[in-house]
Amino acid sequence: MTNAIDWQLATVTAVRDETPTVRTFTLGLPGWDGHRAGQHLDLRLTAEDGYSVERSYSIASEPERSGEVDITVERIPGGEVSAFLHEVVVPGDRLELRGPIGGYFVWEAALGGPLLLVAGGSGVVPLMAMARHRARSSAASLATAANGAAGTPARLLLSSRGPEEIIYRAELDTLASAGDGFAVVHTLTRQQPPGWTGYARRIDEAMLADVLEPLGASVRAYACGPTALVETVANGLVRLGLPPDRIRTERFGPTGT
Ligand SMILES: Cc1cc2nc3c(=O)[nH]c(=O)nc-3n(C[C@H](O)[C@H](O)[C@H](O)COP(=O)(O)OP(=O)(O)OC[C@H]3O[C@@H](n4cnc5c(N)ncnc54)[C@H](O)[C@@H]3O)c2cc1C
Repeated sequence: MTNAIDWQLATVTAVRDETPTVRTFTLGLPGWDGHRAGQHLDLRLTAEDGYSVERSYSIASEPERSGEVDITVERIPGGEVSAFLHEVVVPGDRLELRGPIGGYFVWEAALGGPLLLVAGGSGVVPLMAMARHRARSSAASLATAANGAAGTPARLLLSSRGPEEIIYRAELDTLASAGDGFAVVHTLTRQQPPGWTGYARRIDEAMLADVLEPLGASVRAYACGPTALVETVANGLVRLGLPPDRIRTERFGPTGT
């Protein structure tokens, strides 16, 4: 067992591309003490001359997986740490990290719903941990329920630049087709495929109202992504009547989607 504030060495056990600029790293962590969906970890890189740099990365995997976690990293042009992870790190490498960190931007099945998840780009990462956790707990309750109870009603509104840039696209399709109360709504802000009938603009209040409508006003909302997107979502949801204490936000970086 390791304390969350202690640095520990993880072994990269798998690397996979999610989109042309986003990659998932599976980190083997024998001493990992578990996490809650929505938490993040800190990663530290240290050069031979002692120069070191730290960045935070959300945990993408669900708490039910033990002994390893996934992080999903977008390559930022000119980015010190994200470029290193994309260009240099391969399975077998060791990375220094600590965590899990954060107790505010978390969701557990026991908290219930309905759940509104709103993300821009890589802001989907902690929300994916929540969606995966929700699916696992929904499957567990289906297995024990006499008459087949559905999972917590949940909707994910995900803003991506184009179809090729939708992170976790195939898995989101699978989760949404499970028929247990999870829906995904995409908005593609810069490039839409031929025949696209979905949203094709940045998230705004009218879009939030549409997506929120089937869930009702007792929703728990989680918004994550670039600062501008998160502020639009939080302010929009308050104007739509959600109590501020039902809206949780996490900001990743300075630019917009
Ligand atoms: C709690 C938390 C969780 C996070 N989780 C994730 C995650 O799951 N996946 C992920 O990819 N990132 C995540 N981030 C962002 C991550 O910590 C880094 O900021 C990001 O990887 C860029 O680091 P870098 O060293 O590559 O770029 P830097 O060298 O720090 O920055 C290079 C340039 O890019 C700009 N920049 C920095 N960050 C961003 C950004 N996010 N978007 C656009 N421009 C940026 C900077 O202003 C600078 O001009 C998270 C941040 C926080 C605070």
